Amino acid sequence: MSPYRKSLLWCLCFCLILPIVEAVDLFTSYRQEEKSARTRVSNASFLISEWIQGAMENSDYVLRDIIGHVPVGALRYPDADPARQARITELIEAKRKTLPNAAGVGLVDRNCIVTHTNARIGVDASGREWCKSLQADPLRETFVSHLYLNKAGRLSVTQVRRFPGPGPGFHGSAGVSVDLDFFSRRIAQMALNTGGTIVIADTQLGLLARKPARPDLLGTTIDHPQTRAFVASDATYASYRDRSMMDGRERLYGVRKVDDLPFIVIVGEADSDWQASWRQRALGETAALLLLWTMAILMLRKHWALLRHQEMLSHMANTDTLAGIANRRHFMSRFEVELKHAQRHGTGLAVLILDIDHFKQINDSYGHATGDQAILACAHACQAVLRDIDFLSRFGGDEFAILLSDTSVEGAQVAAERLRQEILQCRIAGNAGVQVTMTASIGLAMLDAGTPDVEAALAKADAALYRAKSRGRNCIEFAA
Ligand code: GH3
Ligand code: MG
Repeated sequence: MSPYRKSLLWCLCFCLILPIVEAVDLFTSYRQEEKSARTRVSNASFLISEWIQGAMENSDYVLRDIIGHVPVGALRYPDADPARQARITELIEAKRKTLPNAAGVGLVDRNCIVTHTNARIGVDASGREWCKSLQADPLRETFVSHLYLNKAGRLSVTQVRRFPGPGPGFHGSAGVSVDLDFFSRRIAQMALNTGGTIVIADTQLGLLARKPARPDLLGTTIDHPQTRAFVASDATYASYRDRSMMDGRERLYGVRKVDDLPFIVIVGEADSDWQASWRQRALGETAALLLLWTMAILMLRKHWALLRHQEMLSHMANTDTLAGIANRRHFMSRFEVELKHAQRHGTGLAVLILDIDHFKQINDSYGHATGDQAILACAHACQAVLRDIDFLSRFGGDEFAILLSDTSVEGAQVAAERLRQEILQCRIAGNAGVQVTMTASIGLAMLDAGTPDVEAALAKADAALYRAKSRGRNCIEFAA
């Protein structure tokens, strides 16, 4: 594989692995954030439900206290004993003031007619849910109503406790009407994220309190199928993600039943809040990814530029600038390789040293430029005759070294002769329209297992060349 492809592959791997690592990290951190948000809404709903329970237990304790102080026989309207009537009214009013959640405290007789209260007495409450429930179920001691609109036109929730009496049946009850502001005031004090919400509703999904405050919505029904299904189920807690029907925000909700009271608490954390730090992380990681990608691409380009530079340097180091063919250095290293290969595989390898005859004269007669043209023409002539697998180099000056691989003695001789002939055909333009011709002498050596090294081989070819020169030039001499 080329070093370019190799580096491209590495770069692609790096660029692909990064987003995978990032995606895994973002996925796990998202799950982590969601888990934490779920824990927070669960904890908050638990705290609020505990608080509601505590408040209702507190008011029930006051109702027990009132029942302990009022004889059941006093539950009459109108009471024949006005002094007792006044005393009891005063007592329950004093008790009401001890309760932060009480709008009013009252007593009713066996027919649910109000006998004592700080407001109007003689009112018939027999149609109320709590009255019917206590009358219908003799074992039920207490009852907390759903949300309803009272006679004064206020939204109320009533908590009542049965009076013990002589014999079976309903003898009357003490009750406290819970001020809905009490819920709203309490949750208003709780800290919330900007997009968070707290809702207290009854189990018929009537809205008792909400933060952020929405007085216009109090008393309306929360028409949400998932919450309705939760209330109908046996579960005490559920969590889900949904868009708010009240303000359209996407939230993660935790909804909890308040023990055996007819209330539910819903706590919501806006997606934008619990996802905020995750989104920041995602943004940071994406920016880092883009930066790393850019750096990887820049580094790849730099690496490729270096490779090209290296290639150019190695080309320059191995190429003769005038003839555009391999230089001596390149020839020597190639010769080492070819010699080893030929010796290992037993193939014929011939080395030829070719020298232009009387080259000095060309230089002297027509100038160096013409001499250069002659060297170039000689190189082209050799290239035209040689096979692709042969190796041509300029050995220095007007001398060329040639390797003929996988060649027999006869083949080498034929090739050498072709080279000599081809050079004879060369015509170089001298000055004043003169056509310069040239001849060359060739020393040829065949290499075999006995050839110790390239220097010995070259010495043999060189000796043959020397003989060719001595023989009168323009001929081929074969090394013994
Ligand atoms: P011989 O037949 O014995 O080879 O005689 P010759 O004149 O060719 O002698 P020799 O091979 O020793 O001469 C080489 C000359 O080539 C010497 C040098 O001035 C010249 N020469 C070497 N390199 C270059 C070159 O790059 N360009 C030119 N124009 N001449 C060169
Ligand atoms: Mg020469």
